[in-house]
Amino acid sequence: MSSSRINIAIDGHSSAGKSTMAKSLAKELNFVYVDTGAMYRAATLFCMRERLIQGNEIDESRVEQSMDRMFISFKYNAHSEASEVHLGGINVEKEIRSMDVARKVSLIAAIPSVRHKLVRLQQRMASMGGVVMDGRDIGTVVLPKAELKFFITSDPDIRANRRLDELNQQGVVSSFEEIRNNIIERDRIDSSRAVAPLRQAENSILLDNSNLTIEEQFEFLLSHAKKIISGKQ
Ligand code: C5P
Repeated sequence: MSSSRINIAIDGHSSAGKSTMAKSLAKELNFVYVDTGAMYRAATLFCMRERLIQGNEIDESRVEQSMDRMFISFKYNAHSEASEVHLGGINVEKEIRSMDVARKVSLIAAIPSVRHKLVRLQQRMASMGGVVMDGRDIGTVVLPKAELKFFITSDPDIRANRRLDELNQQGVVSSFEEIRNNIIERDRIDSSRAVAPLRQAENSILLDNSNLTIEEQFEFLLSHAKKIISGKQ
């Protein structure tokens, strides 16, 4: 289908299936998918490698000074049919999905200088329109003028089980409890931080997918997108 160049923002809780929906929607509409969580994860890997975070202790002023040396980009992988995140030109798609990064990412994502750098990058990527972007602050801060906004959530147990299946398939070893604790803790930090906290944008459409199949969710999102796009043509 030919699509007007609107932007679509998808925010919501951790492991609620935002990226699955965003990826499918972008493919169907021939839009670009931007996974902003991958960018915060790559920033976390950068801070870990630069030893700017030790345990849960972060040297925020050194993080701020190091931002000029952090280069995050996406490159399309025809084999996986997905854009993969690169740090300093090297593909880090696999490393950023580790539990080690998952445990630290919300702490790094709460640092203003990190958000400042990544939000500017995200806004540039969406400046021509035709983007489906998922994250926590897309509808509220990054793209407040996005023509269509969703907020996706579901029951934490269901999210933890889905995430466990996903990680098992990728060969990452973890347990239900560890994953459940991690997503609840990330939601807590993401919702309570001072800068760009996770919250539903006022003009966004709420989707609780606890009892929905992937196909049902996709149909819901696509029907809203088609309505907005056809109104623009
Ligand atoms: O989407 P994903 O679960 O990969 O995101 C990892 C973490 O990155 C989130 O828990 C949150 O701390 C941070 N994040 C954010 N703002 C975004 C996207 C992700 O703070 N727009």
